[in-house]
Amino acid sequence: MEFVPTTCPYCGTGCSFNLVVRDNKVLGIEPWHTPPISEGKLCQKGRYAHQFIHSSDRLTRPLIKKNGAFVESTWDEAYRLIVEKLKSYSPDEFGCLASAKASNEDNYVMQKFARIVLKTNNIDHCARLCHSSTVAGLSEVFGSGAMTNSILDLQESKCIFVIGSNTFEQHPLIGRRLVLARKMGAKIIYADPRHTPTAKQSDLHLSMYSGTDVALLNGLMHHIIKNGWEDREFIESRTKNFNSMKETVMKDDYDLKNVSKITGIPEPDMATAAEWIAKSKPAAAVFSMGITQHTVGVDNVKSVANLMMLTGNIGKPGSGVNPLRGQNNVQGASDMGGLPNVYSGYQKVTDEEARRKMMRMWGADEIAGAQVGHTLTEMVDILANEPGAIKCIYLLGENPMISDPDINHVRRALENVEFMVSQEIFLSETAELADVVLPAACYAEKNGTHTNTERRVQRWRKAVDPPGGAKPDWLIICEIARLMGYEKQFPYKNEGEIFDEIARVTPSYAGMNYGRLEHPYALQWPCPDTSHPGTQILHRERFATNDGLGIFTAVEWKPPAEVTDSLYPLILTTGRSIWHWHTGTMTRRSTTLDSEVKTGWVEINTKDAEDLGIGDGEVVRVLSRRGQIEIPAKVTEDIKYGEVFIPFHFKECPANILTINAVDSISKIPEYKACAVKVEKIEKKTFG
Ligand code: SF4
Repeated sequence: MEFVPTTCPYCGTGCSFNLVVRDNKVLGIEPWHTPPISEGKLCQKGRYAHQFIHSSDRLTRPLIKKNGAFVESTWDEAYRLIVEKLKSYSPDEFGCLASAKASNEDNYVMQKFARIVLKTNNIDHCARLCHSSTVAGLSEVFGSGAMTNSILDLQESKCIFVIGSNTFEQHPLIGRRLVLARKMGAKIIYADPRHTPTAKQSDLHLSMYSGTDVALLNGLMHHIIKNGWEDREFIESRTKNFNSMKETVMKDDYDLKNVSKITGIPEPDMATAAEWIAKSKPAAAVFSMGITQHTVGVDNVKSVANLMMLTGNIGKPGSGVNPLRGQNNVQGASDMGGLPNVYSGYQKVTDEEARRKMMRMWGADEIAGAQVGHTLTEMVDILANEPGAIKCIYLLGENPMISDPDINHVRRALENVEFMVSQEIFLSETAELADVVLPAACYAEKNGTHTNTERRVQRWRKAVDPPGGAKPDWLIICEIARLMGYEKQFPYKNEGEIFDEIARVTPSYAGMNYGRLEHPYALQWPCPDTSHPGTQILHRERFATNDGLGIFTAVEWKPPAEVTDSLYPLILTTGRSIWHWHTGTMTRRSTTLDSEVKTGWVEINTKDAEDLGIGDGEVVRVLSRRGQIEIPAKVTEDIKYGEVFIPFHFKECPANILTINAVDSISKIPEYKACAVKVEKIEKKTFG
């Protein structure tokens, strides 16, 4: 029996555990006590993260679609077809998707392939769908788009303001830190339309309507300034543009009485929250997709930053703006340059000096031009609306047929693709539409690193061989690049050589190597040289902006793109279940997780259910202007009257048939958290 230490493949918390291995099989998971985040503990997803590895339907051989059906092929045949096709398109005709599930090494090689071999910046990944608003918003006001503090640090807080993050279900081991902080006297404030397990662990639940975050945040700041509770010294010494922000939030519109009408939160609750945040030192803000997935996602993020600067809660232990990244490597896939506007380390593709540097470091005479490429959401729109403009899609482990908004629109888009390649571990709903599917190794079958939500770069270690002929993603891409004539630029023999190159070209990773990452604490970036211990807290003395000052932003509240009306009178918000992960490709193949929650549900308030004559467990029809699904109802007091909630994991009742593909104008993130729907009674069935 062997114990192979590694990191959880699910959420951005980045817990560590040992894979128990015998005879090239992973038999189970055992605690690994020394890493600081999990300290030997795991949530249910991590506890059973071995169960999908040896599933009988893992992809083991390349598949080529012939006459509408997949036929198994050799790697040589699949590569020959791919190379021939890739050589036939021009750079603008490509769209590439990297993956927040894959390692840093996989993502780095993927973006390098797009830029050197395909000569396109049309590369993006699912960070677009979860935290692009965070990166855009925080980069502008702090000079860095990352979580400012660390997970352990939350325990030092005296007040934690959780907004738009169901932390106990989505990042359970970060939720544990909230409990520990509370035990040590911290107040927990929770703002969300649902009375989730996180609400149940809080001291104050601000039960708000979806899409009213800026109104709430402005209201809290209005009340703080009105009472003179702002941190004058911090504002004067560390920030700029305070007066323009103040002018906006002090309008009568943001008096708590008016804000109560917009948000649905009782005025005294908001007054209490404002006082706790302002007077508790230090206080931290924690947020996730409830803040980012809106057409005003960037505004929401900037408003959270405003609140924390107003109260002097940046750059200190227990404070900060703490966005919790969704998938295991959302942070890393972005750090690696799996984005249309930046190379690794957020070096801009439009910066000629950065471009020349990358050409020199990569030994390439020509790479993609200095223009920003298309985002994921733009690529889907172009495919749907301008057939032929993008002809070839190359996907690394992404499943937009479940994860993207308005799935009917996504299907129309992908059906217009002339040639699609998908590297996958299972035949996902999206891979089914591909022309060639290449079998990939999963996290337990390869080495590598990934970067958790607090910028900690941790190791994956190979425990078993991939099934059949499956290969690590980076190796597949390198082999194709070599066949395309780029042996010199893709010479890697192993993952360590790729990581060494990442460190050479990426300033924030410059001091890292596999040897240093062997330590259970690993390293948090920025880590600029090999003697640097890594960085737990950003912006201690100065912000990463050009002049070192944090920038306040005047932000006005705007309603969601689609509001309720007499035809569609309920607000739909979407999210995840504690038992499942994203599009369910892994968790629905884990017998334990699948046996706990077998299908989706629509959560509906008791009074709404009464109005519609719907009973708990009854199968109902939910309709939006985009489509309709049938789904069991869960009648509960735990959701606000007038709102419904659907988890998006389940292909038989996919929430994203209903969601809208309206996007934030800056980050291009879709508004998953608010659209208008109606619920209709159809027949009675037992839920479960
Ligand atoms: Fe894995 Fe996240 Fe659970 Fe930790 S909290 S075990 S990283 S799913």
